[in-house]
Amino acid sequence: MSTRLRDLPSVDRVLSDERVVRLIAQYSRRAVTDLVRAEMAACREAIGIGGPVPALAEIAAAIEGRAADRWREWPGSVINATGVILHTNLGRAPLSRAALDAAERTSAGYNDLELDMETGKRGSRQAHLSQLVCEVTGAAAAMAVNNNASAMLLGLAAVAAGKEVIVSRGEAVEIGGGFRIPDVLRQSGATLVEIGTTNRTYVRDYANAITENTGAILSVHSSNFLVSGFTHSPDFKELVRLGAERNIPVLHDLGSGCLLDTADFGLAHEPMPQESVVAGVSLAFFSGDKLLGGPQAGIIIGDEALVSDVSSHPLARAVRIDKAGISALSATLMHYIKEEATSEIPVWRMISRTASDIGSTADQWAESLGQGCDVVDGLSTIGGGSLPGEVLNSRLVRLGSTGHTGGPDALAQRLRNGANPVLGRIEDDSVLLDPRTVLLGQEDTLLKTVSHALDS
Ligand SMILES: *Cc1c(COP(=O)(O)O)cnc(C)c1O
Repeated sequence: MSTRLRDLPSVDRVLSDERVVRLIAQYSRRAVTDLVRAEMAACREAIGIGGPVPALAEIAAAIEGRAADRWREWPGSVINATGVILHTNLGRAPLSRAALDAAERTSAGYNDLELDMETGKRGSRQAHLSQLVCEVTGAAAAMAVNNNASAMLLGLAAVAAGKEVIVSRGEAVEIGGGFRIPDVLRQSGATLVEIGTTNRTYVRDYANAITENTGAILSVHSSNFLVSGFTHSPDFKELVRLGAERNIPVLHDLGSGCLLDTADFGLAHEPMPQESVVAGVSLAFFSGDKLLGGPQAGIIIGDEALVSDVSSHPLARAVRIDKAGISALSATLMHYIKEEATSEIPVWRMISRTASDIGSTADQWAESLGQGCDVVDGLSTIGGGSLPGEVLNSRLVRLGSTGHTGGPDALAQRLRNGANPVLGRIEDDSVLLDPRTVLLGQEDTLLKTVSHALDS
């Protein structure tokens, strides 16, 4: 055994291999030496259980593999041809050009994030952004935090810690990734009071549950599932009326924060922050990176005194939004103020694109790819836990099933594993590409990756 171990090249010998020398130039001697040691330890272990002694070239190749894997740029860019617009696993909403530029300028240098330029004294990082949010939603007051989960946690902690929060059984739900409304409530220090039944809850259920210890009524938009059939939930306005009568804040978790009417695009109507404001909500919460189309953020709007309580709560600092997020969010909101959301914000550009426009792109792709590719009718979805069951008509490129090796799974894997990964979807034993979710400027790269995968 020990004689075979002696056949293994020394660490110094490996470090002077031409390929390893190149890695040292690319990264650093110290970091690469650690990789060499780790690889040599793995080799000794493999030899110890009877494996062959690897040649120097094999060891060097394995170290290159470790470096490429561990130190690759991450997250790596992918082209989303799945037709799912807000793909949670793919980073949700892509940003507009203006939002990206704003975030870059803010991050690259110094800025007046917390400086009042007139007085030269400390300013508020929220002030400017709050004004924009109020302008687009009609709210009296607003602030932004790290994400919608933290917006809810903070809002509940500020308004209802130590008190009871009334929630319909049908809304005590899991949003995704283990994020459950009852758990967030508990973490905020509030006590959950569940009322009604899974399918039917009435205003009188809320009214009957109110005690002197009630801190808030919470309504949660069922953004990621459908309840159909024998169902009832009160109109949000009725809840607000009850809250006003009994002097209890009514909170609304909207999920997506959709500022445009989805019904104008042939989709079901998604509740809008503007509507919660008109109804008289005490506080509403929504995400920045779902249908709003901006960066990860949580936005809190509502009553001036309550938003002020929320912003002065000690947790506010723990969940605050960063400067790149503030600038990207401000730039995204400006698209709504300039009424250019459907041309400038990627998710709205995708939603508003017609099937016939997508069809002409699909036709071009199929023709350029050849190899048995054709164009079929299909559906795009919103995704990201928004508008479940709602679809947009689209035209999809169906990749040819002959000529290349393996079935659709193998083809989809080759599309994922290249230098510029392309994600499609598999339906009826074919790989389908939906041009709707492919961004401007990605077309040539997509066609190259797909051609290559079809050829192999
Ligand atoms: C997505 C969602 C959340 C969580 O928002 P994040 O911004 O991901 O933290 C909370 N509530 C609802 C109803 C949602 O749809």
